[in-house]
Amino acid sequence: LSDANDAKNTGPCHTLDGTEITLYGNVGLSADVDQVLRRGMAGVGLFRTEFLYLQSKQRPDTETQRRLYAQMSKRLDDRPLVIRTFDLGGDKLPPFLSLDDNVDPSSLSLRGLRFSLAEKHLLRSQLNAIVQVAQEADVRIMFPMVIGGHDFAQAIAMVEEVIEELNALKRPQIGAMIETPAALFCLDEILELADFVAVGTNDLTQYLLAADRELSAENEQVTAMHPAVLRAIHQVVIAAKRWDCPVCVCGEEAGDPELAELLIGLGIQELSVSPSRAAVLWAAIGQIDVTTASVLAQRAQMCRSPHEVCKLLSLESRQEL
Ligand code: PEP
Ligand code: MG
Repeated sequence: LSDANDAKNTGPCHTLDGTEITLYGNVGLSADVDQVLRRGMAGVGLFRTEFLYLQSKQRPDTETQRRLYAQMSKRLDDRPLVIRTFDLGGDKLPPFLSLDDNVDPSSLSLRGLRFSLAEKHLLRSQLNAIVQVAQEADVRIMFPMVIGGHDFAQAIAMVEEVIEELNALKRPQIGAMIETPAALFCLDEILELADFVAVGTNDLTQYLLAADRELSAENEQVTAMHPAVLRAIHQVVIAAKRWDCPVCVCGEEAGDPELAELLIGLGIQELSVSPSRAAVLWAAIGQIDVTTASVLAQRAQMCRSPHEVCKLLSLESRQEL
């Protein structure tokens, strides 16, 4: 039995007027790579590595990680695998860390990259595994919850140390997630160092609107459709263009065709979404006219609420364009 979501899309995804949009998959388990391939996606734009260990009583060792990353990238063939380093802390505390007295589960405690820089051995071992695999495959490193040039530079320095330790010849591409308000205000410092950036709309929305990301299911104000979030993403696109740096949007809402149209209108050409959204998004993107999308995106930024943005996207409003 096949459903619409199982349809295999082949070749690149294009808007109605021929702009190429690259669709990557978000994965949390190595088996998800099969979904990415089955749905004809361009590779993995976000591998949430912490998912592997959320139930684990033991710290992950380098060799186990190396084997897993190698296996995934082999399955992906020449397609890129963007490995996000452990985004631990807050609500993501595996048993091997909850046993540790220094760990505080508050969502504003040590998290993401800040956590990794405090627990350096965990990050170092993960980077070691990634750098080894990256010698023979298109495997990239992405750091979560970057807040500026300083923490990002420290993380990059660790990659460089690992490269030296391993006598590795190839330096993998290194990217930063833009998902904190601080990162928005430090874009140039981050972009100067980055090979690519990815906007995480789940956390960016949460922290910009000061609203727990779980609230988005029940409160229509808590969405990346909020004009503040759209303006923020536009700033990222403008700055990234200045640095000639690729920018992808990888939060869950990027899989929503309405938001995807606005993102494309803002100048985004890479999306990373759950593979289950691929077919729907592929079809929707094929109907998008980039000129119309740009006008909509400009107007959406001027709206006063997500509700107004949704109204703007309605059929009636479009007829007035
Ligand atoms: C995000 O914050 O949008 C994101 C993609 O990362 P995660 O959902 O894993 O925090
Ligand atoms: Mg995030």
